[in-house]
Amino acid sequence: MKPLTNDFIMIDPKKIWSSTQLPTLPVVAVKLLDLIKDPETEIREIVAVIKTDPAIAAKILKATNSSFFGFKSEVTSIERAVPMLGTTMITSLAMSFALSDASMSQGPLAVHYQEYWKQSVVHGAVAELLGKQSRKGLEAEFFLVGLLMDLGRLAMLKTIPKEYLPVLDLARNDLRPLHEIEQEHLGVSHVDIGVQLMKNWQMPDALVAAVTSHHWTLENIQAQQNDSHFELVGGSALAAAIGDYFCTNRKGTALCQIREHSNALYGMTEDALQDFLEQASSRINTTGELFSVDMSEFGDPTELMAQANEQLSMLAMREHVAGTQAVAKNEAFEREKQELTSRNEELQKQVMHDPLTKVYNRNYFDQAIAREINLSGRTSMPVGLIFIDVDRFKKLNDTYGHQFGDEVLQRVAKLLGDDLRTTDILARFGGEEFVILVSQPTEKGLEKLAERIRAKIEAEKILYGEEVVPVTASFGVAFTISNRDPSGLCERLIAAADEAMYEAKQTGRNRVCLRCLLDEQERRLYRGINQSRFSRWLVSRGVFDIPTVSKALLGCKMESIHIGQLAIREGYLTPPDVEQVLSDQEVHGDRFGITSIRLELLTEEQVVYLLALQQETPQVVASALIKQNLLDQPTAQQLIQDYLSEAPHSNRSSDRTPELQLQ
Ligand code: GH3
Ligand code: MG
Ligand code: MG
Repeated sequence: MKPLTNDFIMIDPKKIWSSTQLPTLPVVAVKLLDLIKDPETEIREIVAVIKTDPAIAAKILKATNSSFFGFKSEVTSIERAVPMLGTTMITSLAMSFALSDASMSQGPLAVHYQEYWKQSVVHGAVAELLGKQSRKGLEAEFFLVGLLMDLGRLAMLKTIPKEYLPVLDLARNDLRPLHEIEQEHLGVSHVDIGVQLMKNWQMPDALVAAVTSHHWTLENIQAQQNDSHFELVGGSALAAAIGDYFCTNRKGTALCQIREHSNALYGMTEDALQDFLEQASSRINTTGELFSVDMSEFGDPTELMAQANEQLSMLAMREHVAGTQAVAKNEAFEREKQELTSRNEELQKQVMHDPLTKVYNRNYFDQAIAREINLSGRTSMPVGLIFIDVDRFKKLNDTYGHQFGDEVLQRVAKLLGDDLRTTDILARFGGEEFVILVSQPTEKGLEKLAERIRAKIEAEKILYGEEVVPVTASFGVAFTISNRDPSGLCERLIAAADEAMYEAKQTGRNRVCLRCLLDEQERRLYRGINQSRFSRWLVSRGVFDIPTVSKALLGCKMESIHIGQLAIREGYLTPPDVEQVLSDQEVHGDRFGITSIRLELLTEEQVVYLLALQQETPQVVASALIKQNLLDQPTAQQLIQDYLSEAPHSNRSSDRTPELQLQ
């Protein structure tokens, strides 16, 4: 070993390789790695290997049912899990559970183990997302590369903790990447160690190549353009940079690298990148669930972006101080600084969360409700709003103090969020008022949801010292579906929810009041549509239960077809009829269905049927159910035929031929 500075000594790699602490692969993973190299391997061989280790088998099964994979129905056996996940993903999971276990440390190094593993989870999540954009079927490889790319860090933590710790401490506040600091102080980096370990484990070449290059410059990566592993190599480098962005203090420099890589390798514009980072952030959370690690500390994407830009602006300033002599440089610096400042202001404005309760803030809510109403204008999907105001909160503040009041708000916010779907949006509207924007509710469901939350708040035991402090809230609920022209509807919906809430206050507090912005006919139509949708029809026939069908619907992308076209296709209207409706719509602005009823071109029953068909293409729903092995092809065709045969009679033709082709 040769001394470098007082604090650091170059490491003799032998010390690492001869250590008894070097991470090893569990026997199951070794066997799986062997099996997946052989394309002839059969699923039952994989199943047999997994079953030799019940602990890993149980973890794989649990993972299969986690939200990471999002399968609609519970998978209860390894025999089913293997073909659903694919052999590479199964192997990746077996390996990563071993890595995850190896990172469970209680000692003084615990925090470094955790940091290592959390960043690996981020790498895995991001790499898998990138894998989805690459050639088909590579997600599992990308995922594994992500999880393994920092393997060397784990090895060094295990084998040379004393020497490695000061390096990690130093890296924490350095703007250079970790591998450079390791190289400088230890003479070896986690990349070298990880790659060697993977080679020892006889991992596939493509994976080794991708881990080798995960800190390469763009130029070096692009030089591999014709290499067969190029996609993985590029993906691993971008995932590594995004890992640094989420997990380290060098967010600014990481962001520069991300911009460069994502643009050159994936053609992402700044907007596309922002979208991707949003997606990554949510995928990171689901991936964390897979390994039971809490990833919530990384903050939301807009806040991260603001931090990164702030750091870049600071760096620009430093650079400026270092080279004050050149005037030209000075001007460029001023320009850059101004740009960064204004971009930052913009981002700050967009910061989405209320600092006290951590739920979305008013600004975010305003944007979200506008989006939802516009969407409703295009799709006729209903929108629900729940307005919540804590009862006699002023008195609570006065009695127990403002700080306790703050705690109550945090508790209430938490309770409000517990029962929501991921598509619902909970925000603090101001003071002790909250709002929940519920997407695609039914009127009844919306009221039930509000009532459930109300009861939950009432039942919550909130303590001030030993004393139980009763806390309740009043709920105003409003329900609407937008017309073709959604202007003014946001304001009307908020006002209606506010009015309903006021009514709840007037009539005794701690209760739910409802306002529906639909007239009687619209309401009737809407209820009818709900009952006539193919999914509901399946439920009414006892083919599936509501949860199964609802889950299947989540993944469905319905064909987008104008109701006029649909009416022609189904033989209810002729093209001149549709023309007539459209020109009447120009005058009155009503929806197509309502207009054609008024013009007596369609009956209510026919409009209901067409709208149900428009919202849910039976073929699409059936395909989703088939894909999830919940239905076979012949049964699906029969069900669709039965469903379509119950369509209301057309006034015109009898030659309607329902399309039975499954998509
Ligand atoms: P009501 O049942 O009619 O809603 O009565 P209320 O007392 O809840 O309503 P009012 O609007 O009169 O009072 C709301 C109080 O909430 C007044 C304000 O000081 C308090 N408040 C607003 N924001 C916060 C906050 O962030 N923290 C705390 N602790 N109190 C807040
Ligand atoms: Mg109030
Ligand atoms: Mg109040």
